[in-house]
Amino acid sequence: MYRPSGTGVAPKMGVNSRVFIFEVEGMRQGENTDKLNFPIRRSGAVYITVPYERMNQEMRRISQMGGKIVSIRPAGEPQTASTVAPVNGQQSQPSEEKTKPMTHAKAKTDIPVNIYRPNNPYMGKCIENYELVGEGGLGTVRHLTFDISGGDLRYLEGQSIGIIPPGKDNKGKPHKLRLYSIASTRHGDKVDDKTVSLCVRQLEYKHPETGETVYGVCSTYLCNLEVGADVAITGPVGKEMLLPDDEEATVVMMATGTGIAPFRAFLWRMFKEQHEDYKFRGLAWLFFGIPYTANILYKEELEQLQREFPDNFRLTYAISREQQNPQGGRMYIQDRIKENADELWQLVQKENTHTYICGLKGMEGGIDEGMSVAAGKFDVNWSDYQKQLKKAERWHVETY
Ligand SMILES: Cc1cc2nc3c(=O)[nH]c(=O)nc-3n(C[C@H](O)[C@H](O)[C@H](O)COP(=O)(O)OP(=O)(O)OC[C@H]3O[C@@H](n4cnc5c(N)ncnc54)[C@H](O)[C@@H]3O)c2cc1C
Repeated sequence: MYRPSGTGVAPKMGVNSRVFIFEVEGMRQGENTDKLNFPIRRSGAVYITVPYERMNQEMRRISQMGGKIVSIRPAGEPQTASTVAPVNGQQSQPSEEKTKPMTHAKAKTDIPVNIYRPNNPYMGKCIENYELVGEGGLGTVRHLTFDISGGDLRYLEGQSIGIIPPGKDNKGKPHKLRLYSIASTRHGDKVDDKTVSLCVRQLEYKHPETGETVYGVCSTYLCNLEVGADVAITGPVGKEMLLPDDEEATVVMMATGTGIAPFRAFLWRMFKEQHEDYKFRGLAWLFFGIPYTANILYKEELEQLQREFPDNFRLTYAISREQQNPQGGRMYIQDRIKENADELWQLVQKENTHTYICGLKGMEGGIDEGMSVAAGKFDVNWSDYQKQLKKAERWHVETY
């Protein structure tokens, strides 16, 4: 039976195009990896020899164990720049005919998904839960951080996790999971790879028939969660809102309310953390729509980033109940888009510009309106152009 080998050094083998060496980082010591016959160090790479026919299976297994494949090379070939192929989790297997070394490809991190499923969620612990809405603001929005150090959960900026609230629904069935965008970078708020954070608004509305105030099940559970309490987590999920690897990209972000969550993760990765393999030098432009100044989530940190990185980070608020649009109405995010439409139109045409929209369902309408006006000045149909951007994976939307 095939058994992976991993000794910390590539084994010396003859040239054999049917056997490959995976260089793997980030495998964590744990129940699953303990069963393997090679030592896992928390940092540093391990090398695993994999026959061609088991590559897909091995990729999945490595991903489930929290590992990241940083290169694959045919066994027997030295590890040089020309033979190392950065690997994306979705990369297809090399064909049998391919005997040439794999060529440069843009490094793309593999994307972890569904490490924990609803029938076997990860039980995290709440270690932080604090209010984000200031005095005089509307509603309740909390920043929550969970300890995930005891398991294999890992994630990328722009992904979401599921939370399963305890208890049963009105049909007597266990509650279903609700998704929440992750608000922390892959390294977590404490930059120790041990936590995940969320930004949760408590759903509160008047019942359309009875007029009674109704509170959402999961959001209320989370907003009231005590520090030290257990929480059932699934995921991660989502490939729509991932940050491009390109350090010189233009990243336009449009958020309403808790739609800020993935952008907090982006911005913290771009500007707050230090990485060997990612040093952002492009332009990040955040449009943020909220009702009142007191509702500007993460206000201090955002404004500090703007002060520290004025050439790389632009911050544009639309504060609907305090600012007015040119028609004298409330200033919504679409008004800011219209105001800056010409510049945005120039930006979206650049090949390395990615636009992200996150937050309230329906916010895209106004954004499209603004972009249509700008594109129309150049006789371009925005809807057609946007389709191309989506196809090129440069227009990303996650609204709820
Ligand atoms: C990909 C994704 C990411 C998300 N990220 C976040 C996030 O970062 N932060 C966040 O706070 N939320 C986020 N959400 C929303 C979240 O998943 C939940 O939907 C939200 O918290 C409400 O869940 P709940 O259990 O509190 O409400 P529930 O108890 O499930 O109640 C929701 C239901 O209430 C009803 N309802 C809601 N509003 C009204 C109204 N005005 N009038 C009448 N009926 C109404 C609707 O039937 C609705 O389905 C995200 C959703 C998705 C899909």
